[in-house]
Amino acid sequence: MPVDIGQVLREHTREIPDFPKPGIAFKDLTPLFADAPAFQQVVDDIAERFRGRVDAVAGVEARGFIIGPPVALALGLPFVAVRKAGKLPGETLSQEYDLEYGSATIEISTDAVDAGDRVLVIDDVLATGGTAAAACALLERTGAKVTGIQMLMELAFLHGRDALGERDVHVLVSVD
Ligand code: AMP
Repeated sequence: MPVDIGQVLREHTREIPDFPKPGIAFKDLTPLFADAPAFQQVVDDIAERFRGRVDAVAGVEARGFIIGPPVALALGLPFVAVRKAGKLPGETLSQEYDLEYGSATIEISTDAVDAGDRVLVIDDVLATGGTAAAACALLERTGAKVTGIQMLMELAFLHGRDALGERDVHVLVSVD
């Protein structure tokens, strides 16, 4: 029987109320990362969706660093680290974006991707979409093309897809 990957993810997600601050229902994917067969199913599902369609896999710090590398390895492709500001050595490209209060900056190494590369962007949760949009903008500034965006979970009520324009967005679970 085919695997219901959405069900696998739902069964391995814990909701932590009021974390990291009051009013936020934090989607904790630690149970997925702790269950190798379930995590493998998720990695395989993502890898098969993009096999032959991308040249690199970019993960957004921090949980994109857990999901992205096994997907990159499954596809035999380079992993690109999209890091918080100030963490990468050498020459970097930066992108600032707005948060609910204030702003944040993410960076990639200038040699992380080549113009024309097709890149898959991976993170755990799509909330407002600000982080993913900034990651895409950063990669696209190098001349790379974001072929797809893969999130494990989408908080649909925050309409994060609106921030991502026409880009091809995939989620395993959408929460209303
Ligand atoms: P955003 O830029 O608003 O789409 O926020 C996305 C980033 O914040 C992702 O990297 C998520 O890891 C994290 N995030 C936002 N909301 C949640 C939530 N309710 N549960 C878990 N992570 C979240």
